[in-house]
Amino acid sequence: MALTDTDLAHLRRALALAAEALAAGDEPFGSVLVSGAGEVRAEARNEAGGGDHTRHPEFALARWAAAHLTPEERARATVCTSGEHCPMCAAAHGWTGLGRIVHAASAAQLAGWLAEWGLPPAPVAALPVTAVVPGALVEGPVPALTEEIRALHHRARVRP
Ligand SMILES: [Zn+2]
Repeated sequence: MALTDTDLAHLRRALALAAEALAAGDEPFGSVLVSGAGEVRAEARNEAGGGDHTRHPEFALARWAAAHLTPEERARATVCTSGEHCPMCAAAHGWTGLGRIVHAASAAQLAGWLAEWGLPPAPVAALPVTAVVPGALVEGPVPALTEEIRALHHRARVRP
């Protein structure tokens, strides 16, 4: 399935949540869980600023979905997220049986930006989601949003 205008609108909300996270002293990542009918069911943003670096929005949404959605609802849901799931979150997504993923920036893009800015790589490998969840349906990155998401990460890591 190709990227739709609805996906793009949800991605813009994910980027707004990422900006909100950055403003609160967390890392600039945000995600929304969209039902098969196109409704936002849950939102989350990174909350790692307190020192727990597992507090990723995609992980939070997977756990929310496990608690609140049936397996069928989870399979029909889409997670729209500012940055591609890390391996931890991809695994949570896969174990929970969630559906499609749409990300604004890929893990490879983020890793490339860190290298470009002379920063050390993240401690967890920047694998594509499909390396962790082979059957995942993944769309992204989205060129129309690249500059915006790159600027958020630049502000977070280089020019606070
Ligand atoms: Zn993650």
